[in-house]
Amino acid sequence: MTSTTNETINGPDLLDVKDLKISFKTDEGIITAVDGINFSVKRGQTLGIVGESGSGKSVSTWSIMRLLPKNSIIDKSSSIQFHRKDGKKVEITRLKPNGRELREIRGGEVALIFQEPMSSFSPVYTIGNQIIEAVLQHRNVSKDEAKEIAIDMLDKVGISNPRQRFKQFPFELSGGMRQRAMIAVALSMNPSLLIADEPTTSLDVTIQAQILKLMRDLQQDLGMAIIFITHNLGVIAQVADEVEVMYLGKILERGTAKEIIHRSQHPYTQALLKAIPQLDSTGERLTAISGDIPSPLSRPAGCPFHTRCEKVMPGICDVEMPNPTQLSDTHTVYCFLHEEKDV
Ligand code: SF4
Repeated sequence: MTSTTNETINGPDLLDVKDLKISFKTDEGIITAVDGINFSVKRGQTLGIVGESGSGKSVSTWSIMRLLPKNSIIDKSSSIQFHRKDGKKVEITRLKPNGRELREIRGGEVALIFQEPMSSFSPVYTIGNQIIEAVLQHRNVSKDEAKEIAIDMLDKVGISNPRQRFKQFPFELSGGMRQRAMIAVALSMNPSLLIADEPTTSLDVTIQAQILKLMRDLQQDLGMAIIFITHNLGVIAQVADEVEVMYLGKILERGTAKEIIHRSQHPYTQALLKAIPQLDSTGERLTAISGDIPSPLSRPAGCPFHTRCEKVMPGICDVEMPNPTQLSDTHTVYCFLHEEKDV
């Protein structure tokens, strides 16, 4: 089966995900982690995916690089179309997990950064050697050129004395510096899409703000698209153009960052907004969302949020999944409160 077509890029989308459904075979049975979601990412823009842990946001994006455990199953109806740098459109779900084309895309065109940079570095090689190795794997340059790219990238991510840091080992850097170095590794391969999975969660708020600014600046410089995954809508407000709100493997609301932050219509999004820690907090208590996200092994019928929703309508919300209601060209909500015929 051929995985590429000669179709040239027509639209602005870099990535189109349609009806993505991912399950895991476990001893307790089949767990559905992602349940038929759609999203797209435009060139040069940032898509934020927000939700509590267990919502399926990491699983759905790691599938773009096919970095899922062996017991995962991507449903046959799912489609992940990625537009490569050479203009060809690739159906990622049809690529061999360890085949040449997927290896080229991983790192070379889609890069990943995540919460704990230590686990992405080998402790026995210097930061510089690890960047050179990544550059040589994905770019057609000499070793000397790779070294200059590495030093330039360390400089771009705001690491002082990059020629000196280049020779250091990962354990010699602070947490914030290691995070910057991981971004340098990812960006030195010149990807067109960067997946940033909770990259600032373990950092204090000042370093977090610096890293978010750095990512925005680099994005403008390098023109790459970003998928930014987080549980914190306050972070999304600082980085995203468009936002998808996920819960228990489903999208419950999507819109521009402005629509989601200032005009959210879904009770779950509104609850996440109330849980944002404020930098200038005057001591007002944050409102945690009551209850826990249900186990995917016992998914509730109807709206997946109905077991925790303050506005639940028994006999309606616990029976069927709400249909999408279009609030604007860009704003969609899945909630019976907005479905006139059902309420
Ligand atoms: Fe709450 Fe019902 Fe809307 Fe779900 S559909 S968010 S339970 S009001």
